[in-house]
Amino acid sequence: MNINMILEMAATDSDKAVVTVDERSLTAAQLLDLAHRAAHRFRDHPAVLYLGANHLGYPVALFGAALAGVPFVPLNYRLGDQQLTALQDRHAGAVILRPEHLDALVDVDVVQDEPAEVPSPQWDGDSVAVIIYTSGTTSDPKPAVLRHRHLLAYVLNTMEFASAADTDAALVAVPPYHIAGLTNLLSNLYTGRRVVYLAGFDPTVWLDTVRREGITHAMLVPTMLARVVAELGDADAESPTLQSLAYGGSRTPRPVLEHALRAFPDTGFVNAYGLTETASSVAVLSPEDHRAAFASSDPAVRDRLGSVGRPLPGIEIEVRTETGEPVAAGETGLVFVRGEQISGEYGGRSVLDADGWFATRDLGHLDADGYLFVEGRADDTIIRGGENIAPAEIEDVLLRHPAISEAAVIGIPDTEWGQRIVAVLVGDADPAEIRQWVKDRLRSSKTPDTVVFRDELPKTETGKLLRRTLVAELENSHA
Ligand code: ATP
Repeated sequence: MNINMILEMAATDSDKAVVTVDERSLTAAQLLDLAHRAAHRFRDHPAVLYLGANHLGYPVALFGAALAGVPFVPLNYRLGDQQLTALQDRHAGAVILRPEHLDALVDVDVVQDEPAEVPSPQWDGDSVAVIIYTSGTTSDPKPAVLRHRHLLAYVLNTMEFASAADTDAALVAVPPYHIAGLTNLLSNLYTGRRVVYLAGFDPTVWLDTVRREGITHAMLVPTMLARVVAELGDADAESPTLQSLAYGGSRTPRPVLEHALRAFPDTGFVNAYGLTETASSVAVLSPEDHRAAFASSDPAVRDRLGSVGRPLPGIEIEVRTETGEPVAAGETGLVFVRGEQISGEYGGRSVLDADGWFATRDLGHLDADGYLFVEGRADDTIIRGGENIAPAEIEDVLLRHPAISEAAVIGIPDTEWGQRIVAVLVGDADPAEIRQWVKDRLRSSKTPDTVVFRDELPKTETGKLLRRTLVAELENSHA
């Protein structure tokens, strides 16, 4: 069992365009043929490193590597030279695909010097399909190893979103080194949707593409969603073609989500929660859940908009104490997940426990109906005067202040309290008023000790807050 099964299935309808980038498309037959040709080139190498933006060469290289039985490793091409060199050294002998190599990979007119045929690789479901580096928000990026069976399990677990009409098209704007860019390709190809990739993200281009390509399904990370709704402002409702809009990868501020729900009233929203190590989504908040919560004036029901939903079929979720005992519904603890799609493996070292559970290092709780609420990474917890404080709860309150557009709450070492709470904000307000705003809404021990303003917050390319960077900066500046 290999992810190429998905491409071969799509190729039974060989003239159908299956992937589009910058208004150029490949049919299923072309993609299959090009992947075979690439496989010839890749098969004697230990890996294929992809160092470009989204391009038609991306699916060609991914499937070519899979056909050759060689791991595909998409890297963040914006990393500094030193980091990239270190990563290349780690994958010595690999084929390196840079932007200037990609057009040649997709040249359907080139005369072949070798017959396109399956190079009979030695793989099975347990072979490594891809190595994707985690985002590196809590530590240095870790190489998550995903085998063919993990990716195929993900595709089967997301089957409930599978029915697709012939004209359906999915828009993917995340960069190629993000797990969602890869899993979206596989699940959409499997359902028969054409996948449209954006080479880079820009809200105007995104909206134009949705309209021009008749996009029916799209996936965005929260910072992209925020930029799309900012671009729309209070314009009339958008995009009747867009049936489904999935968002996730980090927390979405409630004002952004509510604005999006108003701007796309006919679209079904899906909050997708997952990690690189879990082959992307393991829980989703469905369109029906969004509609019910958004329509309700009962704050308890409406709060479900802050949930990441229920486990996908094939996935189990448990919340446990530090010592491993399951907690009761409503109580916060560490989130554990189990299922066929979860690899939990870094370069040959599995971190799954004996029963196959993976510790996400996220804090969260399940409500009485089994909906998961993620409250941030355990590693980001602030311990002030012995009390554990989750930054996300304070950030949510700060983001409800009309003058604040972005918020990061971090702990800075302090001789009296162990750590003190620093709120780093984008916006324009009086620090004393901000402290009072939090004090009026949360227990007083959660009031930021210090409030500072910045023009912007440090983030990864996919919009994840880099708290480590802020902590280092503020420690050094003695804020
Ligand atoms: P590193 O593991 O290198 O520190 P990272 O955890 O950010 O980085 P990823 O695998 O890209 O690397 O991200 C997974 C994390 O992103 C999850 O553990 C969770 O904290 C967060 N996350 C993902 N989806 C959602 C979502 N829908 N809502 C809230 N948080 C989310």
